[in-house]
Amino acid sequence: MEFKNETIRDFSIEKERNAIRLALNSIEKVLPFTIPISIGNTQKFSTNHFVHKNPWSPEIVVSKVSLSNALDLEEAIKISKKRGNLWKERPQEERSALLMKVAEKLVSKKDWILSVCIWETGKHITEAEIEFAEAVDFCRYYAAVANDQMLPKNINLLGEDNLYYYQPKGIVASISPWNFPMAIFTGMCAAPLVTGNVVLTKPAEETSATAYEITKCFWEAGIPKEVFHFLPGLGSEIGEAMVTHSEVSVINFTGSRDVGLSIVRLASQISPGQRSIKKVICELGGKNAMVVDADADLDVAVQAILSSAFGFQGQKCSALSRLYVHNDCFKKLKERLMASMEDLLVGSPLDFENRIGPVIHEESYLRLLRLQKENESFLTGITTQYPKDGFYIPPSLYEPPPDSSMWSSEIFGPLLSMKKISSFQEGIELANDSDYALTCGVISRNPKHVQEAKLKIDAGNLYINRGITGAIVNRQPFGGGKLSGTGAKAGGPDYLHLFVEGKTFTENTMRQGFSRDTIQ
Ligand code: NAD
Repeated sequence: MEFKNETIRDFSIEKERNAIRLALNSIEKVLPFTIPISIGNTQKFSTNHFVHKNPWSPEIVVSKVSLSNALDLEEAIKISKKRGNLWKERPQEERSALLMKVAEKLVSKKDWILSVCIWETGKHITEAEIEFAEAVDFCRYYAAVANDQMLPKNINLLGEDNLYYYQPKGIVASISPWNFPMAIFTGMCAAPLVTGNVVLTKPAEETSATAYEITKCFWEAGIPKEVFHFLPGLGSEIGEAMVTHSEVSVINFTGSRDVGLSIVRLASQISPGQRSIKKVICELGGKNAMVVDADADLDVAVQAILSSAFGFQGQKCSALSRLYVHNDCFKKLKERLMASMEDLLVGSPLDFENRIGPVIHEESYLRLLRLQKENESFLTGITTQYPKDGFYIPPSLYEPPPDSSMWSSEIFGPLLSMKKISSFQEGIELANDSDYALTCGVISRNPKHVQEAKLKIDAGNLYINRGITGAIVNRQPFGGGKLSGTGAKAGGPDYLHLFVEGKTFTENTMRQGFSRDTIQ
């Protein structure tokens, strides 16, 4: 199976723009989405809901999400235990072929899924297009890697047969965030499924409609519902119930640091009847830096900074939030950055021209407004034109003092902090001065400095002379260290190994005589 990245459409072509516009406009007529719970072949709706509102027109309800509970989980586990073996025993090639079909199914519903995601998140169309391609890539890539890596290996000697093979770990809880509801959600389910595990998926509350559309593609492609259960609901209820359940072997979590660390704590406690040590995969936040060197190409720097700090309103784990700029180019870069920020068009993603949309919900909006207010005296530049209704936070540039939490806490919004440095080495030291180690960038034309950065900067993904977001499956396996996570490297060659256990089978084939009753 050869892997190739999915192509991205060019929306400067009118025909492409019209197609997606049509799909986007068709959504409003069918709102709100009511999202069910799906356990095996049974679908049901709860009486209580999580209600998610549209980020640019909060008077519109996008989704009413059923809340699954511990009883639903129990039912899903019961079915999984009964049917899981059939899935586990399917040949690897068959499971991989089914995942390739999921990719085709997704592609066939592309505009619809993309539009649901945009209505839920306020993501720009081009950003959504790129994210969608990543979701498709995850399916095709994991299908290909599984075929390549998960087959049994024989090492036979005279008189001794050895077999090394992989078995799925069992029941995997995939708990995903709202900011990449297509790509991350898909990847976190596809990998454990293709390796033969049962998956209980708990999407983020805010993006359950997108997750449900994607889940339907898995089922329609032939992944049995008995091994892929959809359990939407609250993190503090169904999420926590999954984490503590004795039959769940792997918790595949992507989200915030606080929730991730609480999961690590809870998963270390053995529940009654538990017979395995839970494996916790945690992909958490970032506080990502960029160092701009004295000789940097400022055209490259400005573009890289704008896209990394303000793309999807800064709501990416990989987003740039700490900018360290060499004294020699500080003044010039600051001027150019402020001028470019003034030109950023902020508004609804229904208009192609807008580059920056609203943030996800009122809670984020109010939190970011508060942060802006607290840091008012350090403000250097801000985008002044933006709609006043909807959850819009204008891109803002600050020069806070070294002890400000703007340098240490994840912000998850379009607020960037900037500081002057007197040497490239100082930039490296400051970039490393963080609890997090997810992405980092260097803009430099000095090959020695690029090498130094490679050796010294502590980041899961280090990018040189480009933006620091937008990792591509296979080309840039993604994930960080320190308190950014367990370094799972999604979209990379080692990821599938997190969901399997290696088994060794050895047989002495030197016969010690025959056992009569077994000879035919
Ligand atoms: P979050 O931690 O609030 O929620 C993530 C998921 O966990 C959701 O499905 C939520 O319902 C669930 N959850 C919440 N409380 C829970 C609990 N007690 N037990 C079990 N599950 C629980 O994060 P979010 O706001 O959805 O996403 C933003 C965060 O995710 C940011 O910190 C961002 O940096 C991080 N993120 C990291 C990566 C990465 O690859 N490292 C990628 C995307 C997002």
